[in-house]
Amino acid sequence: MKEKIHPAYNVATVVCGCGNTFTTGSIKKELRVDVCSKCHPFFTGQQRNITAGGRIEKFNKRYSK
Ligand SMILES: [Zn+2]
Repeated sequence: MKEKIHPAYNVATVVCGCGNTFTTGSIKKELRVDVCSKCHPFFTGQQRNITAGGRIEKFNKRYSK
C-alpha cells in the first residue's frame, strides 16, 4: 500500500442491536449494526421480528432532535 493516502485503519468495536459486541477492522472507531452473526435468524435458527423496537425507534430518535 502507498503511504499517507490511506485513512487510519483502527480496530472498531461493533455494537449490535441484540447487545452483542465484537471487534473488526474499520476506519471508524465504533460501528452499530442491526443484526450480527449471533442474532441473525439464519444462524440462530429462530424467527424474530428485528424491526420491533429497532429501526423505527432509531429512526425516530435520530430525526426527532
Ligand atoms: Zn446481534
